[in-house]
Amino acid sequence: MDSILSYMAEYDFENLYFCQEKETGLRAIIALHDTTLGPAAGGCRMWTYAGEMDAVEDALRLARGMTYKYAAAGVNLGGGKCVVVGNPATDKSEALFRALGRFIDRLGGAYMTGEDVGTTLREMEYMRMETPYVITLPKELGGAGNIAPATARGTLQGMRAACVAAFGSGELAERSVALQGLGMVGKEVLAQLRDAGATVHVADIDARRARELAESHGASVASPETIHSLDVDIYSPCALGAVINDATVGQLRCKVVAGCANNQLARLEHGDMLQQRGIVYAPDYIINAGGTIYDTDRLQPGGFNEQRALQHVDRIFETMTQLIAIARRDDISTARAADRLAEQRLADARKVQNIRRDIRIAL
Ligand code: NAD
Repeated sequence: MDSILSYMAEYDFENLYFCQEKETGLRAIIALHDTTLGPAAGGCRMWTYAGEMDAVEDALRLARGMTYKYAAAGVNLGGGKCVVVGNPATDKSEALFRALGRFIDRLGGAYMTGEDVGTTLREMEYMRMETPYVITLPKELGGAGNIAPATARGTLQGMRAACVAAFGSGELAERSVALQGLGMVGKEVLAQLRDAGATVHVADIDARRARELAESHGASVASPETIHSLDVDIYSPCALGAVINDATVGQLRCKVVAGCANNQLARLEHGDMLQQRGIVYAPDYIINAGGTIYDTDRLQPGGFNEQRALQHVDRIFETMTQLIAIARRDDISTARAADRLAEQRLADARKVQNIRRDIRIAL
């Protein structure tokens, strides 16, 4: 990125804030992408960035991703993100996150934060001491608690819709699945797949974890190096990003790719390659939105309502069905159709805003 403001203009960002406090060692960046649908929300990431510009770029890129995620999920929030420059293993302190909480508070609700890579519910609690604008919180502080089961639930809904397109049935009992990664979400995906009667092969770089979870859930263990190329119906990436890349895209033998991992496609073109190979790809940010849908339900009138939150998570099936239809209609990949769906919702919201403004002027 040569010029921050030109980059912001290119992707239509609204604001970028730099936060610094010498005493606590805080160095953070908050990016607000688009607040058409509502106040910006998005997690707080802590990472050892190689340089300042890497941190800026990450904050901007992730904030824009949140705009699309909320828009496609039908959540009335805008896209934002906060990144803290530092090592999450050694640089965290109550003082640092309380200082960040004060900065977030100063934005007056334009940005609301939550957990992300490198932060936990503990840091959310520290920030909550200084500002109410923290979404992800433990249950005892009024939050939704662990969101991984809801993320997994949404992932399975997206998977079912992709199976309807690929096999003519969303019934998972008939399907074999290669599940990559058994972390917070992956182990829930495993449990829910087994409940649905699917045959599951699992892999994790933590071999002991893979063995134990496979044993307790009646799954078989595969190698982390080859899990993506198993001859199965569904490949479910639930670990890292960029797993569909130049090296792997030709090796897949599945008919559906549907998992919770973020940024599964190394490049958008890999989505086109999956389409050309007749593989139905369930775009990551569409089907892993369950946790964030569940989490942000507490911003609705009347506060958190579990039944309503889960109903909204289950709508990922419809969203996925809708974007498969867009992909077929426009002859584009599902990855591109997802962006189109989100952009359409933003455009519709802008129309509504314009109508409201016209009404105010008319009055
Ligand atoms: P996690 O860190 O708890 O789990 C990741 C798991 O993947 C670990 O068990 C790790 O050992 C394993 N792993 C790492 N590299 C691997 C490899 N090469 N092969 C096989 N296994 C490997 O993370 P998580 O919270 O379960 O999230 C998983 C993915 O889903 C991430 O990409 C995350 O960004 C995304 N995601 C998570 C949530 C959520 O609710 N936690 C929501 C949306 C998206």
